[in-house]
Amino acid sequence: MGTIDNLPPLREVIGTHGLSAKKSLGQNFLLDLNLTAKIARQAGDLSECDVLEIGPGPGGLTRGLLAEGARRVLAIEKDQRCLPALAEISGAYPERLEVINGDALAIDPLTHLTPPIRVAANLPYNVGTELLVRWLTPKDWPPFWQSLTLMFQKEVAERIVAKPGSKAYGRLAILAQWRSEAKIALHLPPGAFTPPPKVSSAVVHLTALEAPKFEADAGVLSHVVAAAFNQRRKMLRAALKGVKPDIEDRLVSAGIKPTERAENLSLEEFCALAREVAKS
Ligand code: SAM
Repeated sequence: MGTIDNLPPLREVIGTHGLSAKKSLGQNFLLDLNLTAKIARQAGDLSECDVLEIGPGPGGLTRGLLAEGARRVLAIEKDQRCLPALAEISGAYPERLEVINGDALAIDPLTHLTPPIRVAANLPYNVGTELLVRWLTPKDWPPFWQSLTLMFQKEVAERIVAKPGSKAYGRLAILAQWRSEAKIALHLPPGAFTPPPKVSSAVVHLTALEAPKFEADAGVLSHVVAAAFNQRRKMLRAALKGVKPDIEDRLVSAGIKPTERAENLSLEEFCALAREVAKS
């Protein structure tokens, strides 16, 4: 198989550096460089951007991002074993790849990046969801990123783009669609990865909006939505009892029937409720 750069094919890289996949780090590698270049293209025009990549592993997506013209890539990888393979990529793209060895959940990458910034990652799903929620819920908006291009388990991707009334609709949909445009950009079968995971995957692309679609405090909205969907079968007046003692009045003031259920509430209604809850 040819490569998109002058570096060795990824299967060879993995062999040379002994990168057997570790389950504990959620390692399912993408070894097809045409596919990683395709994922990189979903991130948009990278030529004027710094790209934050989390979990580069042996560097398939990293090479895709660089080959597609990213101005710079900052890659944060927890597994020390991957560093020599990533150093070879830095050598092939002088001044364009910086690698930090550490846990992305514990590192603040911003001092290493110059705006505009885009984020791209093929991460273990639990880490990906936690980072996504953090990136979606800063107090101030717009955030540090212009777009997020992230691989998820297909079911999680569907939750991010879900609409009211569907089973997948919940906290992730509200938080993602409140301040960004979210779409599924690509579907990937288990066989696209080495080793193949048990589930199908999808790449989600989120573009940050200049301003939220409706006014609300991020912390309050996040709290209200989490409580509402925690008991999604219950009526809102019961599910939200712990949020405010007078929640029934606040639901009515927000124009919402207290007997309604969370999955039927629109984003606009959740934001109206968050504004009512925020009043003292
Ligand atoms: N991006 C590579 C690819 O597409 O082939 C690797 C993907 S693999 C699903 C996930 C990568 O994230 C692994 O290299 C793993 O070591 C790394 N990783 C796992 N947890 C991490 C964390 N908390 N911080 C940074 N990297 C992490």
